Order: sequence, then C-alpha cells, then structure tokens
Amino acid sequence: MRAAYIQTFGGPEAVQIGQLEKPAPKHGEVLVRIKASALNHLDVWVRKGRPGAEIKQAHVLGSDAAGLVEQLGEGVEGLAPGDEVVINAGVSCMQCGWCKRGDHSECPKFRLLGFQLPGTHAEYIVVPAVNVAHKPLHLSWPEAAALPLAHLTAWHMLFPRARFRVGETVLIHGIGGGVALAALQIVKMTGGKAIVTSGSDEKLARAKELGAAHGINYKTEPKVAEKVRELTGGRGADIAFDTVGAPTFPISFEAVRRGGRIVTCGVTGGRETTVNLQLLYWNHISLIGSTMGSLEDFQCLLSAVGMAHLRPVVDRVYKLEQYAEAVQRMEAGAQFGKIVLDVDA
Ligand SMILES: [Zn+2]
Repeated sequence: MRAAYIQTFGGPEAVQIGQLEKPAPKHGEVLVRIKASALNHLDVWVRKGRPGAEIKQAHVLGSDAAGLVEQLGEGVEGLAPGDEVVINAGVSCMQCGWCKRGDHSECPKFRLLGFQLPGTHAEYIVVPAVNVAHKPLHLSWPEAAALPLAHLTAWHMLFPRARFRVGETVLIHGIGGGVALAALQIVKMTGGKAIVTSGSDEKLARAKELGAAHGINYKTEPKVAEKVRELTGGRGADIAFDTVGAPTFPISFEAVRRGGRIVTCGVTGGRETTVNLQLLYWNHISLIGSTMGSLEDFQCLLSAVGMAHLRPVVDRVYKLEQYAEAVQRMEAGAQFGKIVLDVDA
C-alpha cells in the first residue's frame, strides 16, 4: 500500500512516500480502506521525535481518516465490508478503571494512531472495531476525514471538561487551527457566543462568517483581555479555550470572569509559561487539561454533527504525493481549517 512514513526523525524531508505492507485485521479489529486523511500538528511533533524516542520500523504518520470497511477481523459485529466510516484516533485498553468509567482518553494505556500506533496517511489501516463509526451522510470524504480528532478534542474540552452551558461566552484563541475552528462550530451550534482571536483580519472575517460574535486581531489590538472584558460588559468570558499555550495563557487569566474556566489541549505556541496563582484562587478560576475524548463523546459528536448538518472547514485537499507541500502549509500556520490528503487519488 502507498503511505507517507518516516524512518528517521527530522524535518519535512524525513517523510517518505512509498510502498509498505498492507496490514491484516486480528480479533476485534477492522481493516479500513482510507479515502481521505487529515493533517494535525501531532504529525509534526511525531516527525521531529522526542528525547529518547526511536523508530524501529517505517512509521506511518497521520491520526485522522475516513474510508470504507474492507475486512472484518474475527468477532466483529455491527459492521460490514463497504460501510462508510470515520476513524477515532484514540485507542484505549477497554479494561482499566478509567475505561470502565467511560473516561477512555484518560486510560494509562491510551495510544494515538500516527503516534504510538501506525497512522492514517496510507491506503489502509487496521483499527479496533470500537474505533470506527458510520460517517455522517452529508459529509464528503475530505470533510469526514477533517472531523474526528479536532472536533472530538473540542467537544471533550467544552462539555465534559469545561462544562460549557448554552448561552455562555467562549474566548477561542488562534482561530484558523483545526481544534479552534471545531470549538467555534460547536459553540455556535449549541447556542453559545464565541469571541475569537487571530493575527489575520482575513481569518477573523471568515470566522465571523462561521458564526463568531466578535473577532480580535491581536496584532492591531494587543490588549486582548481588555477587549474581551469590553465585549462582555466588563464581566469576562465564561471559558477561555486554548490550543496555543505560552503566548495566550496570561491573556486567558485576565480575560475570564470570576469563576471562569481555562481549558487547554495543546501548545502550538510554546509549552512553558508562568501562572499568577493569585489570580487563579482569588478569581475562582479553574485550569483544566484535556486530551482527545471518550467513545461516548465520539458518538454524541457524530450524532450532533448529523442532526445539525455541521460541516468541518476544509482548507485544502492535497494528494498523498504532495505531503511535503501540505505539511509546510500547516507548519507555516497559513491554513484556515483542516488540510486533507486525498489518499485515493
Ligand atoms: Zn484503559
């Protein structure tokens, strides 16, 4: 099968496009023929490598995909070859206390496709049967591939973690990235108010078309927290939704209301920052971490997406062979929405 994979860590040049052996499903697994696969910043972290990490064999990148069930492993029920599915990238043990409670992404053995497991930038992938769900009918293949990781992450951050309620105001930093846009769509879909930030007026204009109530350009209006307070009648946002990290954390502490929540899932702008603990306790702020989501979150998300006919924002679609060009666009932060690979082309 054709795949985008690495054999050494490094820059974009470390990624090779070539033939790898097609995997076969074991008990409880399914083989999926991938139609489209989406890029995530995780691909870049994986490609660069962490201290002490090593690659024993060709490692396929990519965490998001949609495609057709090709073959069922033994014991798989409720699916059939030809079913159109989206893939949930988070694989958990299904045995431990966290999994039994339904907190699948908190499982100590939690692993992600494309990170600790073979990824989705390939013609085929084998995943546990519980990790596939029927594709919402209204979505194209690129839209379906753009959905799982970003929207599941945003869903879990907003509902189970930050306990977002209808009518609340959410400050979303760095609109344009996949998770930030997913948050905007979910907040809008469920009757909340989104204030978004970006360094690009063009991205802010597009976010308003998607339903953002206000856009703040942090380059021309650097006092973002003050602006948020102004836009909320002096009160502050109920939730600050952060995927950026170091540059935005201090802003979030000043921008949320008393009793507000700051929820984070990523550090595209840097992972180390300082926190004013006085603001944390004095203003009753909750600081919340979140990674991916549970199987229940995934089902609720797909149900809501189907009911509301929500369409993930697809920035551009590239062929698998154009991977280098695609990832460069993401690393430059030039995208608005998800960058998708048409694996079938
Ligand atoms: Zn577990």
